Amino acid sequence: MVSCRKVVASLSDYQDNDVSPALRREIEAHLRNCVSCSVLLDSTGKLLRIVGDERIFEVPVGYSDRLHRFLDAHVI
Ligand SMILES: [Zn+2]
Repeated sequence: MVSCRKVVASLSDYQDNDVSPALRREIEAHLRNCVSCSVLLDSTGKLLRIVGDERIFEVPVGYSDRLHRFLDAHVI
């Protein structure tokens, strides 16, 4: 089982289909069992859709701080 940390670090690659099939399976298995990571995936998915092609959003280290700054700057 991969750790939450590894899942979070791989989320943006996962969403870009840029992970190995083995890692993808591990991430999907983790997401089925981990509410916080699946919520995070859901919210980064929305965020990536908002940002679109500019791809401002990066791998979520310090995720919540960055999210709040992003929301302050872009969503009013
Ligand atoms: Zn997790």
